[in-house]
Amino acid sequence: MAYVINDDCISCGACAAGCPVEAISEGANHYEINPDLCIECGACAGVCPVGAPNPQ
Ligand code: SF4
Ligand code: SF4
Repeated sequence: MAYVINDDCISCGACAAGCPVEAISEGANHYEINPDLCIECGACAGVCPVGAPNPQ
């Protein structure tokens, strides 16, 4: 399981900068998390201004 970024994402990039395993990149519509890399640390959820990353 991994964190997933929902459609509330405003593409600010804060989560990508703080991810320890560089699992987050800019996708077609908003930032996305590579589930094969995510270690579920929760850092992205902690820095996101709109609460878009959530554990699945
Ligand atoms: Fe990266 Fe941690 Fe967020 Fe997973 S939970 S995408 S490892 S910051
Ligand atoms: Fe999107 Fe939140 Fe990441 Fe910013 S911190 S790019 S709003 S998921």
